[in-house]
Parts: sequence; structure tokens; C-alpha cells
Amino acid sequence: MSLLVVGTVAFDAIETPFGKTDKIVGGAATYACLAASYFTSESKLVSVVGDDFPQEAIQNFKDHKIDIAGLQIKQGEKSFFWSGRYNNDMNSRDTLDTQLNVLATFDPVLPESYKNSDYLMLGNLVPAIQSKVMDQMAKRPKLIVMDTMNFWMETAWDDLMETIKRVDVLTINDEEARQLTGEYSLVKAAKKILTMGPKFLVIKKGENGALLFHKNQVFFAPALPLEEVFDPTGAGDSFAGGFIGYIAQTDDISFNNMKRAIIYGSAMASFAVERFGTERLLGLKKEEIESRIQDFIDLVQFDITIEE
Ligand code: AMP
Repeated sequence: MSLLVVGTVAFDAIETPFGKTDKIVGGAATYACLAASYFTSESKLVSVVGDDFPQEAIQNFKDHKIDIAGLQIKQGEKSFFWSGRYNNDMNSRDTLDTQLNVLATFDPVLPESYKNSDYLMLGNLVPAIQSKVMDQMAKRPKLIVMDTMNFWMETAWDDLMETIKRVDVLTINDEEARQLTGEYSLVKAAKKILTMGPKFLVIKKGENGALLFHKNQVFFAPALPLEEVFDPTGAGDSFAGGFIGYIAQTDDISFNNMKRAIIYGSAMASFAVERFGTERLLGLKKEEIESRIQDFIDLVQFDITIEE
């Protein structure tokens, strides 16, 4: 099944306790599309970059069979730039700089061939632009997944609320769930968010895994304990890309299939953090993904028989 992904395609500058990068290619849609490309062969990207964006990165999309007919390249303009610094625990970070550049005037135009996509991933982006993409779909996708972050809660609250209303699944991290609801308890926060529009909510907790909420059901997936986490940037987006990519591949939006999708998403996030930027998400082998899924199964499988 086809999948449309919108989000930032960007330059990032990252500082972690292990090192620092100059401008490297990142962006929410970049990570999400690359992760999804391992599951669906029909991924379509909508985004914008400046003429400073490297040809090599565009080639990476093509190598992953990602349709880039909807990627606008603005001559004489600069790509979106984000810079962040991770704290020692690698689970929290501070944004040092966000330069919207081409994003400030981005008007997404969906090519005709995108408008009937079966699944839609609204990656982290200006909420009004996420809405504009939904407006242009010829039919409602089978599932709309949305990701967002604190930046938009602080700068575009009303638009964010309008956009959240229209989606099926919201994926956000624990701090953002608290900021969105004013609730410290994630269970209380989830209850509130499930009244805002989405029927499903995924709360990402970094190295502490992810929670899936639906009605009064909850499912928990751990993150794989990794010896080395090099750069957590893009973990959330890779998670979302793996999650929706798997759902698009299986074409099944039941809660049970979403549980599997969460594990696939977690597996893609675990790859993303092993190297700086998108490096580890390029050219993964099918067997590597399968073996990682097996690691997840082994991690949580146990036999207990409750005596009557
Ligand atoms: P994640 O680590 O999954 O939360 O996402 C990191 C990616 O999000 C980076 O590659 C950034 O380029 C991108 N990003 C950072 N800030 C924003 C923002 N305000 N809107 C959209 N994308 C952003």
C-alpha cells in the first residue's frame, strides 16, 4: 500500500557527549521516509529544501525507491536548520537553534499521483502545513499518523489543536505529552489526548520504550538496551516511519497489528541511534532488521503460568 510522508528535510548540527557534527542531513521526513522504505515500496515524500541541499542526499532517497516528485527545491534559499545538544543521559536534549528558512514560506503542493495515497504520515512540521496536506488528499487515507514537538506547542498552539483533531494516531514524547495536557501522569495525559481527536496515542519514552494507548487498552514496547547510543536524533521519526511503514505493508489498522508496528518502529529507532544522522538507516539489510526483531522478541518473552 502507498504511503505519503510530509515533514522537514533539513540540516542538523548535533552535540552529544561523544562528539559534535557540523551540518549533516536530517529532518523528520528524511528519517521517517528512510525507515518506512524498508516496509513499503511506495513511499512518497512532500517537503522543501534550499539549493544548498546535497545531491547525494537526494540520491539516497532515490536509491531507497522514495518518490520525490513532491520535494520542492527552492533556488537561492536555505534549507531548514536545527541544532541540538544532548545531555549526559542522552534521553533529554536542548534545542540550540531553529532556523525555518525555506519552511517559513512553504506551500505544499501534492502531485496528482500522491493524492490517493492509502496511508499518511504527518511528520514533525508547521501544523498548518500538516493540515494543508490533509486538505489536498482526494480521499481520506486509511490511517493518518501525526508527529509533533514542543516547538509547535510554543509557537502555533491553535493550529496544532486544529490539526490534532483530524488525525487517527498521535506520536509524541513523554515531555511533550505533559506539556500538551498539563498532566504529569502519562496515563492521565493519554486520557486527555484521546479526547482531542486521535483514537490512538503513542508516547515515546526514549530509552524507556514506548506506550500505545487506545480506549482503555495500553501496550508497552521496550527500547532495545544498546551498548552504544551515538546520536538519538531522528529516533522518534524513524520510529514513526517504521510504525506506519509496517502498517502500510500489512494494510491492517487493528490494535493488534499496531502492537507489531510499535515493535518494528522501535527496531528502526534502535538502528537510527547507532550512528550520527541517517548513516545507519541507509542500506540496511533485510536480515539485520529480522534479527533485530528477534532481539525484541527474546527481550520480552517469558513463560509464566498463573495457578488457578
Ligand atoms: P527526533 O529526534 O525524532 O525528535 O527528530 C529530530 C529531527 O527533527 C531533526 O532531524 C530535525 O531536523 C527535525 N526538527 C527539529 N526541530 C523541528 C521542528 N520544529 N519542526 C520539524 N522538524 C524539526
